[in-house]
Amino acid sequence: MREALHPTAYRSITVVDYIGEFGPRLNPLGKRSIRLLARCPACLEPMNTRGEANPKVDGVFAHQRNSTAYCPLKQSAAKPYRILRPVDPDEEAAQRLRASFFSHWKHHWTLMRQRDFAPFADIEEFIALIRHADQSGLWLYRHLEEWVVPYIFLALKDFPPIRGKDKVLRAEWIRFWFDARVRTIEDLWIHTNGDWRIVKAIYAKPRNGGVPGPVQLKSVQIPEIQRNFLSKPEPGVHPYQEKAMKAAFPQELGSA
Ligand SMILES: [Zn+2]
Repeated sequence: MREALHPTAYRSITVVDYIGEFGPRLNPLGKRSIRLLARCPACLEPMNTRGEANPKVDGVFAHQRNSTAYCPLKQSAAKPYRILRPVDPDEEAAQRLRASFFSHWKHHWTLMRQRDFAPFADIEEFIALIRHADQSGLWLYRHLEEWVVPYIFLALKDFPPIRGKDKVLRAEWIRFWFDARVRTIEDLWIHTNGDWRIVKAIYAKPRNGGVPGPVQLKSVQIPEIQRNFLSKPEPGVHPYQEKAMKAAFPQELGSA
């Protein structure tokens, strides 16, 4: 992958940045230098550099060969995140959460469509995710906070390439993963201190069709998590999107 986490700081670096800060693989005497290692943004395992001879073009980070830690980026199948009906549902909070989500649907939708996340996502995809949340009981999770919902939505589906009328809108296949501590949705608040990361993995479209896996992984980005987007003024959306939402959820949004 072209970006990894800095060895000690919480920010992403390229191989060029890494060499700039920690020096090249070999010191001037041709001996291997001792360097702190960059880390995988998903599992935090140390990563080695590849392609240092021409890092601008070829520089990538790779997991160490002997690493056996669970890492979502090594997973070959599609989505591991499934919403399992919670064993201890919070019915009352669920109603409030769902109603509040609809009152802020433009905030959620706009966040998901930001450049760092899934630009060109279609309103029908958003509608399908809300229906999926309804059917699977997502709102019933105890301790689920509203601002986390669009990040869960991003991780629940793949965003394959899109072709517009006369140009390619998105050439690559995008998939969002939570970091390796998060194996189920509840781990967002059980197995982290709320400091989870989301990783945007960009895959090439597999030549023979199907769903891409680690072989097609081209690059990884670590988008910044925004927690306070709900307190911002309501963003504007395209009238077509508003119409589609009102048609899909007339009760929740008023059919006027
Ligand atoms: Zn990893």
